[in-house]
Amino acid sequence: MAQLTSPEADRHWLLEAIGLSRQCPPSATAFSVGAVLVGPDGTVLGYGYSRELDPADHAEEVALARAASAGADPGLLAGSTLYSSLEPCAARASRPVPCADLIVSSGIRRVVIAWREPPIFVPGGGAVRMRRAGVAVAVVPELAAAAKAINAHLLADLAVPAARQHDGRGPRWCPDWPVIRSGTHTSVTSLTGWPVTVATVR
Ligand SMILES: [Zn+2]
Repeated sequence: MAQLTSPEADRHWLLEAIGLSRQCPPSATAFSVGAVLVGPDGTVLGYGYSRELDPADHAEEVALARAASAGADPGLLAGSTLYSSLEPCAARASRPVPCADLIVSSGIRRVVIAWREPPIFVPGGGAVRMRRAGVAVAVVPELAAAAKAINAHLLADLAVPAARQHDGRGPRWCPDWPVIRSGTHTSVTSLTGWPVTVATVR
């Protein structure tokens, strides 16, 4: 199934997701994230944001639950794109199944994010996990600043990582944290055969 994706559409929907992240109830211990699930024809199938319905909610799972409630089947999801203002989690403290696994098992084959999860609360790695499962993951680094802004109070800790290593709860500075290179988008063909847009990520 052809998918209506373009850099312009990706920016539009990712900005929608970032807008949703601004509705998150504030938290000093979790990121504020917004997510929008867009069907092959550009219809919104689901949306959500962190702590929307329950303090443990993650944006992506709320969006997936809404789509499921609306009857979105795996065939439809396979042609859909999930936009998330932050890389979906590969581990979480609040519930047993991380969002990266929820996305893979839902049948979604394309995810677009604004930035990678820094290892403040849990290790990142959601993008790698999804890619290994055949999901195309695109990063739009020019929207990272907007997505980070709502989380600025959490990211300030990254500037002084050594000072927070004593209590065991602060960020664990990881020199191997993958750096997103703000570079030119490259058009590639995903494993599913869809044209996708990806940024250089390492
Ligand atoms: Zn999550």
